[in-house]
Amino acid sequence: MNDVEETLALFKINQDQLQLVKGRMRERLEEGLKSKSTSTIKMLPSFVYLTPDGTERGKYLALDLGGTNFRAMLVRFKKQRYRLYHKIYTIPLEFMQGTGEELFDHLAQCICDFLDYMGLKKARLPAGFTFSFPCEQAAIDTGTLVTWTKGFKATDCEGHDVVNMLQEAIKRRNEFDLDIVALINDAVGTMMSCAYEDPQCEIGMIAGTGTNLCYMEELKNIEKIDQRNVPTKRDEETHEAEEDKQNAGANKKKTEVNSVVSKMCINTEWGGLGDDGCLDDIITSFDVEVDKNSINQGKQRFEKLTSGMYLGEIVRRVLLDLTRRGLLFKGHVTETLKTPGIFETKYLSQIESDRLALLQVRSILQQLGLLSTCHDSIIVKAVCGAVSRRAAQLCGAGLAAVVDKIRENRKLDHLSITVGIDGALYKLHPRFSQVLKETVRDLAPQCDVTFLPSEEGSGKGAALIAAVARRKQEM
Ligand code: ADP
Ligand code: MG
Repeated sequence: MNDVEETLALFKINQDQLQLVKGRMRERLEEGLKSKSTSTIKMLPSFVYLTPDGTERGKYLALDLGGTNFRAMLVRFKKQRYRLYHKIYTIPLEFMQGTGEELFDHLAQCICDFLDYMGLKKARLPAGFTFSFPCEQAAIDTGTLVTWTKGFKATDCEGHDVVNMLQEAIKRRNEFDLDIVALINDAVGTMMSCAYEDPQCEIGMIAGTGTNLCYMEELKNIEKIDQRNVPTKRDEETHEAEEDKQNAGANKKKTEVNSVVSKMCINTEWGGLGDDGCLDDIITSFDVEVDKNSINQGKQRFEKLTSGMYLGEIVRRVLLDLTRRGLLFKGHVTETLKTPGIFETKYLSQIESDRLALLQVRSILQQLGLLSTCHDSIIVKAVCGAVSRRAAQLCGAGLAAVVDKIRENRKLDHLSITVGIDGALYKLHPRFSQVLKETVRDLAPQCDVTFLPSEEGSGKGAALIAAVARRKQEM
């Protein structure tokens, strides 16, 4: 093995190691469901009990604060169809890392602009707020931010109710009013939006700036929630009977899953796997560096091995090391190569694309200020491949743990299930999705897993949850 291969080998994970990761994920998923759990995987109840059933009607506002920007959307449901209007707003770094009040004032300003744009400032619409950070919820319309992730660190937010903070900002602005009926994690929104198309969809997954997963768990297994406050099957049946009267003759696609309230969607926050050191055997010195230089050191270790915010930076650190050792770029360490964040994950997608000739790889590197030979570009491509492959395999191992758990929950020999999935890494990377699928197939052979990329997951999903939540309010 030459020196480059030795470095690349650090990113190789064999089947036995993947089985171990699957097992560790499984253990912490189970642990997280217990009351007073200290699991690194938080397993947050979402208070979403039902998947949509196609009877959703009306106009909703959906607000999405994810990793990179803020989206305001208007979603209108009509006879099993929907229309969506939206506008994207960037979140300047000074708001991501300033005070909470400034951040939420900025969001209120964006919403105000959107309502102006749509001519809806007087409407007081029901709104779903997709907030893709871990929140401890006690009901569908409240939630305390546990901890910021993905580059956010606005002050005075952790430990506070984020719905309340948004409402206060809207009040301070005093220009419009909103009825925020649901606080939604993006994984949950993704699952809901895909369940609207496919009733077998009971998992939502994100592979974008960060990584996360939610799934429908049996209520009886969720020890940490007060089972007395859960809607009973009878509540739902009464409600559906009423709705049947109202929508007599409406063409409804009902499924067994929808008519029995025995499950709740759990937001796993699986990005926290490894925060107890359980991934230290696969973590490389490059990952350690990335973690040390992040704003949440020691946290979200699984996320830092697998998601868009970090993969490019891992690659940059490997390239820097190879260059320092004289194995790349003729040993010429440039300022560019020393600049954190310069190598974005979208370059992995471009460089790994099969359609791209080596000459084009060189031209991408050149745009980054890196002068390469043909041999260099082969090495860079191999580094990108090793880092993205490991990411997809780890996500596959995690997903295998989840589908096997669901299969065992239901005492089935064989489970057929759909994963609603969103995120640029999944959708745009040339190989991530394929490796993810292969890994799940290998590690969970008794499950037949279909992947459904979500369309407008955070918007349509949030609006659907708002619709279901409002239905409950009116009962
Ligand atoms: P979010 O996760 O913030 O809601 P996305 O799903 O659009 O948003 O993911 C954006 C992230 O995905 C970026 O921060 C970047 O890390 C990564 N990314 C962007 N473009 C690509 C691409 N072409 N290939 C792989 N990853 C990408
Ligand atoms: Mg998103």
